[in-house]
Amino acid sequence: RPRRAARTFDGVGQTADGVRVQLLANVADPEAARAAATSGAEGVGLFRTEFCFLGRATEPTVAEQVEAYRGVLAAFAGKKVVVRTLDAGADKPLPFVTADSEPNPALGVRGLRTAAAYPGVLDRQLEAIASAAAAEDAEVWVMAPMVATADEAREFVASCRAHGVTTAGVMVEVPAAALRSAAIFEHAQFASLGTNDLVQYTMAADRMLGDLAALSTPWQPAVLDLVKATCDGAVERHRPVGVCGEAAADPVLAPVLVGLGVTSLSMTPRALPDVAAVLAAVDSAECRELAAIALRHATARAARDAVRERLRPVLEPLG
Ligand code: PEP
Ligand code: MG
Repeated sequence: RPRRAARTFDGVGQTADGVRVQLLANVADPEAARAAATSGAEGVGLFRTEFCFLGRATEPTVAEQVEAYRGVLAAFAGKKVVVRTLDAGADKPLPFVTADSEPNPALGVRGLRTAAAYPGVLDRQLEAIASAAAAEDAEVWVMAPMVATADEAREFVASCRAHGVTTAGVMVEVPAAALRSAAIFEHAQFASLGTNDLVQYTMAADRMLGDLAALSTPWQPAVLDLVKATCDGAVERHRPVGVCGEAAADPVLAPVLVGLGVTSLSMTPRALPDVAAVLAAVDSAECRELAAIALRHATARAARDAVRERLRPVLEPLG
């Protein structure tokens, strides 16, 4: 349908009353970053660095890493780029930091947990990120995946500082981190909700299993409660909370997330126009109202239906 194909995103995410919501792209490597840069994305909200090195048997050298990271930063000169340190394990095994003997890899040594198990890998990655950041003029933020405790956040932020990375944060994708986010924000300067894993760990439902789709949705009231808990814990220290899981790409859910306190959404670039169009059509008070509507329903389906119904005049022109 031509009308749909013609819709674009002009690079400024905001609600109808002008509250800015940064709309960012998820990217995996320099090529994807160059494509994303043409989509109007305001920056990168999730650079999945492990995707640059999938299939590698050995750790990439610092020089190889610098080259890959510079490729992504160069595509977003002058813009924010959130670089995630290696998230290896479970659905994304990297042989040089993943044990193949774990009975339950989703609950194993993955994400930031590999840092202690494979000494030096995180330091070399932070060295490469810092040196790529010094060579390019993007605004580089760095975050760790699979953080569960405030201690992990403290140690990660300290490692970042030791390498001269000043803006350091965490992904919130483990329920423990969401429930205790205020303690995490004593150390982390920002957080990004990884709703794909947050749903998996909240609902105890493998994200790879299509059969569990009814459970595996960010519309689950328990998941929305955890999004709210994360945002509530950020308020006192004025820390920004973004979403970089698939939830951010759902134009019906986006205003709910904003109403819960989320200030940036990072997604696959093709989702940007619809999400931007919905946000531009609702004001921030309506976002809070939609969040309240979603939270008061007992099931994922009821929450989604109620929000859809309220947004009907906004969604209809989107087709
Ligand atoms: C997530 O878990 O929501 C996320 C963004 O990270 P990944 O999908 O790479 O695990
Ligand atoms: Mg994740």
